Amino acid sequence: MKVRELETAATQLPARLDPLRRDLAKLQGMLDAEKAKLGETETWRKTQQDLVDREREALKAAQSKLNASKNTKEYGAASREVENKRKSITDREAELKKVTEVASTSTTQLTSRDKDVEGVRNELAESEAGIADQLNEIISNLAEARKVRDEARGKVDKQWLKTYDTLVGKRGYAVAPVIKGVCQGCHMALPPQLNNILARMESIETCPRCARLVYRKEFLEQVVAPAPAVGEPKS
Ligand SMILES: [Zn+2]
Repeated sequence: MKVRELETAATQLPARLDPLRRDLAKLQGMLDAEKAKLGETETWRKTQQDLVDREREALKAAQSKLNASKNTKEYGAASREVENKRKSITDREAELKKVTEVASTSTTQLTSRDKDVEGVRNELAESEAGIADQLNEIISNLAEARKVRDEARGKVDKQWLKTYDTLVGKRGYAVAPVIKGVCQGCHMALPPQLNNILARMESIETCPRCARLVYRKEFLEQVVAPAPAVGEPKS
């Protein structure tokens, strides 16, 4: 039972950090998405800036045209063009200013979130180191428990080992103490005659109901005390 407990612990331990790993992956994913969005905004901002630069050139040309206008008609047309270019530049710059401000706030937030994610990553690394230490200890205890178990098995008749292993497979544990005439494996009262046979401690007997190997707790304790009863289920 100790071997099985340690085996279960060794299997389950590495998975203990899965929730933290999932959280980290989620946070990282969100952060990456926001960074990508910020990258797109930056591309858009550059494009808009290029347009503004080009419009400024066009404004200069329009202003030259205005200065060179020879009559009222030319003057009127050039003047409208200058006005349109100015308005277009003002609008675009206002939009650019807004977007730049938002991008700046996002950059600050992303820097702070980067730090948070880094914190979670460090926490995970620390926990992983701790888990690795625990796992090493379990593995070493497991090796010891297996050694003790195999030595014990070496002293038991093969037929009983087969019965024992079958019971473990079917019922979880193979050996049950009997207390006050009741099998602690299935909680059935044993026939009084069987209870008396158990008191003699001369033969290995099984419970008629659950088929577990049974022993009278009080007698075994007298014999092997102070060692705990072998195979006694955890209550
Ligand atoms: Zn039983």
